[in-house]
Amino acid sequence: MHINLADTFNQELPADPNLDNSPRQVKESCFSFVTPLVPSNPKLLHVSTEMADALGFDSHSLTSDEFLKTFTGATVIEGAQPYAMCYGGHQFGHWAGQLGDGRAINLGEIMHNDQRWALQLKGAGPTPYSRTADGLAVLRSSVREHLCSEAMYHLGVPTTRSLSLSLTGDQVWRDMMYDGNAAYEPGAIVCRVAPSFIRFGNFQILASRGDMANLQKLSDYAIKHFFPQIHSKGKTKYIEFFNSVLDRTLDMVVEWQRVGFVHGVMNTDNMSILGLTIDYGPYGWLEGYDPNWTPNTTDKQHKRYRYGHQPQIALWNLYQLANVINMLVDDPKPLEAALERYKVNYSTKMDAMWLSKLGLEQMIDGDRKLITQLGDMLVLTETDMTIFFRLLSKIRVGQPASTALESLNDAFYTIEDVGGLIKQQWIDWLELYILRLGKETRDHQSRIMAMDSVNPKYVLRNYMAQLAIDAAEQGDYAVIDELYKLLKQPYAEQSEKEKWFAKRPEWARHKVGCSMLSCSS
Ligand code: AMP
Ligand code: MG
Repeated sequence: MHINLADTFNQELPADPNLDNSPRQVKESCFSFVTPLVPSNPKLLHVSTEMADALGFDSHSLTSDEFLKTFTGATVIEGAQPYAMCYGGHQFGHWAGQLGDGRAINLGEIMHNDQRWALQLKGAGPTPYSRTADGLAVLRSSVREHLCSEAMYHLGVPTTRSLSLSLTGDQVWRDMMYDGNAAYEPGAIVCRVAPSFIRFGNFQILASRGDMANLQKLSDYAIKHFFPQIHSKGKTKYIEFFNSVLDRTLDMVVEWQRVGFVHGVMNTDNMSILGLTIDYGPYGWLEGYDPNWTPNTTDKQHKRYRYGHQPQIALWNLYQLANVINMLVDDPKPLEAALERYKVNYSTKMDAMWLSKLGLEQMIDGDRKLITQLGDMLVLTETDMTIFFRLLSKIRVGQPASTALESLNDAFYTIEDVGGLIKQQWIDWLELYILRLGKETRDHQSRIMAMDSVNPKYVLRNYMAQLAIDAAEQGDYAVIDELYKLLKQPYAEQSEKEKWFAKRPEWARHKVGCSMLSCSS
């Protein structure tokens, strides 16, 4: 297996001189060197072949002992110096101080086809940032992260990736729902991949300690490697940097809204500086469309990270980053202007996104009302977001609204609820929509193609991931591969896989892992 190691983060930024791997505050450093735990009986469960390809690993190397050992932490890549990053963060709106890679260990960076990739093992043992926890991860959360990372990538949503999913052979003690029912669970490791794993929190921790020199170093490093289009010098450089991070963050969130993804824990330590979806924990997918929904039971009371609030939270997080960048530029005005720009672009981009889901090419008078009304309609009775938008392309110009409504029947969880006034409201909306379609210049076939490329047919519904987990916990890994393959083509009709184009089954409505998830992983 050929690995073209090309480390920069641990070469160009200040290292923690203390090599002691025990929980502590790490100051004036961006990371600490740490060696992964050697797993007692590692077993490779699944590899993303697209990711392996992108990294330049051929099919032979995937079955090699070296691959297994490298991506479960049993051996260190020759010449590499694994490390854990130091970062802080605002958790649920409150500054939490130092957090850091408590259970992620960066193996190193590799270059392939002019692309830089950092490789990171999640669940490979404790680091100085583990605080009171064990540095490990369990199978259920690792299956979720592995499958969802790759599914998001194929949906076209900016995301960190996953190369592999493995068992360590060790048992991990977890209280899954924090209710006193702790048990041993199989330990697992995901090898995550991204150009960089730097988060807002990496900058925040330095700023919080007044470490200006390293804040500048980290910013210069990030700009040099990941924002090469920025050529300005001095303060302008950091302002442009902030603007780029802001744009990428907005683009990412708009994509989440498009596919119905709810991150669940949008703390600033879970915000990538590259605008990538990062840290798949208690995330979930909207089944019934509901702006107030969050899968995270830890956030049940305030629902800070609910679906409909994600764009505002991203902005709140950007404010925190702006405060940090302001320490470098000492001039809040351009940063405030950027944050204002977010608000304007947010509404333009969200409009464009909803318009595309409706199959409309240009915004004309009345369209915003059509979109707002649809949002109101979708919550009148439980309506499956994915199925609804996928079926919507079937509607033809000139069609009676009543038959159009029938073609959407499969999207409703209880069809009996779509009667009386609710039925009339749907008919009224559909009449407007059908009239509006009449103003489009595209023919029906082109509209179907356009709509089917933004309205996925298959997403990783919460219960689907749980089926893969239940099987995997019994030693059957076939469902993982089945879902992985299905979700490689989320927009394609896959007639033999139609069973996954279905509403959430009733058994999953209140099942742990399907509708309820905690941060325990
Ligand atoms: P999260 O809520 O997953 O984003 O994690 C917040 C912080 O807790 C991060 O610094 C993680 O590295 C750390 N953390 C979460 N789980 C563990 C664990 N099992 N062992 C050590 N650190 C952890
Ligand atoms: Mg995190």
